[in-house]
Amino acid sequence: MNPLVIIGTGLAGYNLAREFRKLDAERPLLLLTSDDGRNYSKPMLSTGYSKGKDADGLAMSGVEQMREQLKAEIRTGVQVNAIDRAGKTLQVEGETIAYSTLVLALGADVFRPDLGGDGIEHVLSINDLGDYAAFRAAAAGKKKIIIIGGGLIGCEFANDLSTGGYQVDVVEPVGRVLPSLLPERGSEAVANGLSALGVKFHFGHSVKGVWEKGEGVEVELSNGERIGGDLVLSAIGLRPRTGLALNAGLEVGRGIKVDRFLRTSDENIYALGDAAEVEGKVLLYVLPLMAAARALAKTLTGEATAVQYPAMPVQVKTPACPVVVSPVVPGTPGEWEIEADGNDVKAVFRNPQGQVLGFALTGAPAGSGATKMELTRLLPPILA
Ligand SMILES: Cc1cc2nc3c(=O)[nH]c(=O)nc-3n(C[C@H](O)[C@H](O)[C@H](O)COP(=O)(O)OP(=O)(O)OC[C@H]3O[C@@H](n4cnc5c(N)ncnc54)[C@H](O)[C@@H]3O)c2cc1C
Repeated sequence: MNPLVIIGTGLAGYNLAREFRKLDAERPLLLLTSDDGRNYSKPMLSTGYSKGKDADGLAMSGVEQMREQLKAEIRTGVQVNAIDRAGKTLQVEGETIAYSTLVLALGADVFRPDLGGDGIEHVLSINDLGDYAAFRAAAAGKKKIIIIGGGLIGCEFANDLSTGGYQVDVVEPVGRVLPSLLPERGSEAVANGLSALGVKFHFGHSVKGVWEKGEGVEVELSNGERIGGDLVLSAIGLRPRTGLALNAGLEVGRGIKVDRFLRTSDENIYALGDAAEVEGKVLLYVLPLMAAARALAKTLTGEATAVQYPAMPVQVKTPACPVVVSPVVPGTPGEWEIEADGNDVKAVFRNPQGQVLGFALTGAPAGSGATKMELTRLLPPILA
């Protein structure tokens, strides 16, 4: 029998394999990955300096352990180039691999800004263990890091790198941090918390170019201002990896389109994790992919199971001003009700009928498990 093939050994691929093995210990399982197959928790990448951990320190287990644990063949360092849906095979660097069922757990690519200047090689981003190792090597002995983007990942790295002893500047064109997650008062609290660590913000202007300057760089903003530093970390967003699916003729929107059973437009191919668009929702977080892995494991072992997403608040790892947020879909009618005292903010978003649709907690309320639970209970599920 041809194996169940999972492409990707990130949290989505490995969690699915684990859930699958709980239900079926025998069926041949093959995982393919272009990385080195080490098992790690990606959210920990933005806590490495605070915890004093390099890339090896963040890895939880090596590929050999994963092979044993999952009773699976795992092939590392291989790029899947094409899917032949009619023949149910994959093209992997000149070799053909047959599958019975295929799962795409391909993750998301970092969005790269289109920048001018001659210093682009000093612009790094961190989206896996390999990137993290490269960043740490480039940042060793340096003093000042300029982060492009004040969203979740930019703010988390601003906090972590400051704690790690770097001077950090953050450039955010929208004019405030975490603009797509928090109301203005919440953004102000997080910016205050990070500023108290020494982070400098440059709001309202985008980065136009990066130029070499001596050993370091100069970042040119759209208003002509230039900021000097040693290294640039780009954190302006992620895009689901859809190319492989698109070339195979699968339906693709913002992500690889799947139904509630995580099934793509081909009945033998499924997708989950950052790469997938589940009934129109692209959620680049861990809890949704874990719910998807549990449901898909059941479906793949014969018990068709629709994925359900309860409300899943997100924690932003900025200890300088902790954040818990259940974001509101942009454009939703309603208003924020805000109670604030310094950096302690409790903001609740209600629609005109009074129903709670989202919330944002910063500072002390974000540390209160009771407040988070009480508000989460009021939220509608994301996918019932
Ligand atoms: C710095 C950072 C902090 C984060 N913090 C949080 C947080 O606090 N909470 C939270 O919920 N989420 C957080 N996230 C998001 C979360 O980590 C991701 O949603 C999750 O890890 C995605 O897992 P994945 O398996 O879908 O993708 P990935 O981990 O990206 O895995 C993709 C896999 O596919 C493989 N692959 C891709 N294309 C091919 C190909 N063609 N051939 C072979 N292999 C291929 C790759 O090698 C890799 O193994 C954070 C993300 C980052 C970057």
